[in-house]
Amino acid sequence: MNILLFGKPGAGKGTQAPLLAEALGVATLATGDVLRNATREGTSLGKKAKEFMDRGDLVPDDVILAIVGEALARSEYSRGAILDGVVRTVPQAEGLERVLKTMGRGVDALLAFDVDNDEIVRRLGGRTVCANCQTPYTGRAPGDRCEKCGGTLMRRRDDEPAAIRNRLDVYEKQTAPVFDWYRHKGTRVVTVDAVGGVGDVTKRALKALGR
Ligand code: AMP
Repeated sequence: MNILLFGKPGAGKGTQAPLLAEALGVATLATGDVLRNATREGTSLGKKAKEFMDRGDLVPDDVILAIVGEALARSEYSRGAILDGVVRTVPQAEGLERVLKTMGRGVDALLAFDVDNDEIVRRLGGRTVCANCQTPYTGRAPGDRCEKCGGTLMRRRDDEPAAIRNRLDVYEKQTAPVFDWYRHKGTRVVTVDAVGGVGDVTKRALKALGR
């Protein structure tokens, strides 16, 4: 089962991905996490991606498709994946289709998280993430400890106001068309109201997926 989590930055994809993955018995693949780890480790992928990420721009499609293709071939994804933050452009959607086809698989559903821009700006402005395991938090200060792994919470560079504005702009121009691309293709597309408690949103999402 392959499910794409779709929505604006800060819509809650990163919070919901592990919860949905556990409920559905598949692993998560978050390209943002892969890229942030690569940046932190200073690998060639990280060096290539850093500038784009700091500005809030998208990393080039060929880089993303290479990460996704390599990851999905691993045994941990043999039962499928919750894809968090993939896909973000129509060429990525086309590329993912090709990658999955070679594996005899496809996208089962696109799950879109619906949140308005005022709420997004409020959430991202107050967000911290664990520097170690990347769990996102709201209402916690940089320097606090992560509940899951004890790592230090920090602010993401792309959660600064100028980068947030750019990311919302990029979403409208480059990512929003992906929704219609899947709809026209006949893929199951479901939208959930993503405002409310974490557990409530998980329940709504599972219900929308028929679980
Ligand atoms: P995220 O953690 O999903 O918000 O991603 C953080 C940043 O990583 C994005 O703002 C992009 O710069 C980059 N990124 C993550 N996933 C993708 C993707 N599918 N396509 C292009 N860039 C991506």
